Amino acid sequence: MRTRFAPSPTGYMHLGNLRTALFKYLLARKMGGTLVLRIEDTDQGRLVDDALDKIYETLDIAGITFDEGPHMGGDYGPYVQSQRKSGYMDHAKELIRRGSAYYCFCDKERLEGLDGYDRRCADLAHDIVEKNLTAGVPYVVRQLIPPGTTTFRDEVYGEITVDNAELEDQVLIKSDGMPTYNFANVIDDHLMAISHVMRGSEYLSSTPKYNLLYQALGWDIPTYVHLPLILNQTGGKLSKRRGDASFEDLLAQGFLPEAIVNYIALLGWSPPDNREIYTLAELCEIFSIEGISKSPSAFDINKLRWVNGEYLKAMDFDRFYALAADHVTKAVKRPGCDPMTLAKLVQSRISALDEISEALDFIDTLPEYDTELFVHKKSKSDADVAADVLAKIAPVLAAHPEDLWTGENLYKLMTEFAAEAGLKSSQVLWPMRCALSGKPATPGGASDLLVVLGKKESVRRAEYALEKLGM
Ligand code: GLU
Repeated sequence: MRTRFAPSPTGYMHLGNLRTALFKYLLARKMGGTLVLRIEDTDQGRLVDDALDKIYETLDIAGITFDEGPHMGGDYGPYVQSQRKSGYMDHAKELIRRGSAYYCFCDKERLEGLDGYDRRCADLAHDIVEKNLTAGVPYVVRQLIPPGTTTFRDEVYGEITVDNAELEDQVLIKSDGMPTYNFANVIDDHLMAISHVMRGSEYLSSTPKYNLLYQALGWDIPTYVHLPLILNQTGGKLSKRRGDASFEDLLAQGFLPEAIVNYIALLGWSPPDNREIYTLAELCEIFSIEGISKSPSAFDINKLRWVNGEYLKAMDFDRFYALAADHVTKAVKRPGCDPMTLAKLVQSRISALDEISEALDFIDTLPEYDTELFVHKKSKSDADVAADVLAKIAPVLAAHPEDLWTGENLYKLMTEFAAEAGLKSSQVLWPMRCALSGKPATPGGASDLLVVLGKKESVRRAEYALEKLGM
């Protein structure tokens, strides 16, 4: 089994490309096959300078490795199409000899007036063709689509039949001598002994033309696996131009590569068990063509956030801290706040690193809040309870020795205070947390916040709450 990833260095690598690369990688690893990297750079006008580096970098970060390719070698190279130029022309000439392609000398102006090609050059007399070629008249080579119908099987979409009349005599060799993608992919897939062609479903409609080329050259047709589209949340095609995130954007936002890869694996493919968290190695074991669906799947950033959060929670603290430290120190400047303590507090509360600043935003400055905040049914807290509790506990905290200001001690202090006052612990912890943070949800509970803010600031915030509560 041999398959290939064939990116065109015409721009950044979008998530659809990455998903295609990933599925090929998984299929090759699952089947013990070979994964080939081939660079499709024959559209010279659209090449983007650093696109290739970006592609390599993305594949590397995603953990997708190849067996053959530009920097790896292999028996079927060169693996960069622009270095294979003469071979395509030889095959085009062979097709012309076999009556399945022809020289076309029509110029731009003539073609612009046409709706599809009208085959004017399909029947040019041999001597006119020779004369034009000798005179150096610019030409392209076109595929001659025969009459009839073409049927093929796709592993995902099933059997597909098209009327050849719907297929255009597409250009195989352009006037600059370079092959089109439509030609080069067929020639190279054959010459590189590719058994499984996997790619986006946007290529499904061109596949009959490719099959006619394979047939005309007497070659076997590969196994086709076309992948469903990935849509954005508004149902459109994923597009960076329209604001959808690319892999790089997601990394910059603080998503983990392994979480992105895990999430992307589930776009258009369903695992045999219904889990959602898989390592790349696990995916390599369970991937199958049968699990690929025909219908488009939607890229859901919230789902990705959830997956990412699972990875963050499961990560050992040292690695988390290495990733989070910068975000934490940017978010909190209060002297005496230990970044490690803060990182420990947020690790289980965030789903992406970009949420750290919001999670910790109350530490440097207490946000403005309304006393409504103290109302919490489940905790049996309201403004009266809060006023009563804070009035009594603020002086207790103020009297608590600085060197015993630890989470454990403070938690004990608050729960014992509640018990003595005949209150539920939550009736002390909730008002305290609100007073310290001005927010209904914080990483860590009241005792954590007391430690983070320190004695002086904690007492100050408790007293400020009392003022607000009219005490
Ligand atoms: N160069 C094509 C692309 O980037 C490859 C499609 C294929 O896999 O055949 O979309």
